Amino acid sequence: MAMVSMRQLLDEAAAGGYGVGAFNVNNMEQIQAIMEAARETSSPVIIQASRGARSYTNDRFLYHLMLAAVELYPEIPVALHQDHGNSPETCFSAIDQGFTSVMMDGSLLADHKTPSDFDYNVRVTREVVERAHAVGVTVEGELGTLGGIEDGVGSGEIHLTDPDQAVEFVEATGIDALAVAIGTSHGAYKFTRKPDGAVLAMNLIQEIHEKLPTTHLVMHGSSSVPKDLVDLINQYGGEIRQTWGVPVDEIQLGIRHGVRKINVDTDSRLAITGAIRKAMSEDPGEFDPRSYLKPARAAMQSVIAERMTQFGQAGHAGDYEPRSLADMRDFYAGATA
Ligand SMILES: [Zn+2]
Repeated sequence: MAMVSMRQLLDEAAAGGYGVGAFNVNNMEQIQAIMEAARETSSPVIIQASRGARSYTNDRFLYHLMLAAVELYPEIPVALHQDHGNSPETCFSAIDQGFTSVMMDGSLLADHKTPSDFDYNVRVTREVVERAHAVGVTVEGELGTLGGIEDGVGSGEIHLTDPDQAVEFVEATGIDALAVAIGTSHGAYKFTRKPDGAVLAMNLIQEIHEKLPTTHLVMHGSSSVPKDLVDLINQYGGEIRQTWGVPVDEIQLGIRHGVRKINVDTDSRLAITGAIRKAMSEDPGEFDPRSYLKPARAAMQSVIAERMTQFGQAGHAGDYEPRSLADMRDFYAGATA
């Protein structure tokens, strides 16, 4: 079995100087697309589930699909991550479900809409770190808030991460990875023009990395929203207005400055939707769901494999032996002793 702790996976990425995509899943086809892309490119992977995904799949369907992935792709290290936990309780239930990593997003209150204050964020994140590390599970925290709203998550306001406060936050909480707000947004509508230094504060990443060289940085809302995927949707009856995502070369710049985890969801959604629209439109007499789900799965695999290559994780699946969570528990106990 190659279920891996996200901490180990990110430590290896830091040692190797590459980034790892964290791809959201809600169903079997998305998990298959990611695992096939990982096999095709020989990549370690992070599969992540939002609260919405966990409720959509009633948790157990998703978890058993994950177990199938681990069983069928023994050569691929897989970290299973809770994306945007809104409260310690959500993170604890993910740990109980068998996730190897959780995000406690205390940048927002438990309603996941209202920005919180620093003390609240430290308190809830610290609470999750204590319980997670005691069982070898990794924790990602967030400081600052992203723009955009997706799956009901987000205040819609952007508050960039303050580098000095980031140091204080990491020291007070003991997190393994820090999600930074640099001007990106969740969803497809990130920027109304090609992003430059005025809208995407890549210099912040550099500054935070210099102050926190051993904390793994996470870029959220980092889909690139390729024009060809948007065009395909619109060509077959969709109505997606012109929009820009985060350019891959900006992500690569981040990876050179400590970014190890890159969250991608929108690109997968666009690939799937375009392929389904095309298949249905080209063969309107067909009603076997496999006739459109197969091309949808293939389209997602193709965009994910491309990202794996661009982020540099390709070729690294066989670099290391995944450590058990019991091993990681001892690692954390040693680190705090
Ligand atoms: Zn996010």
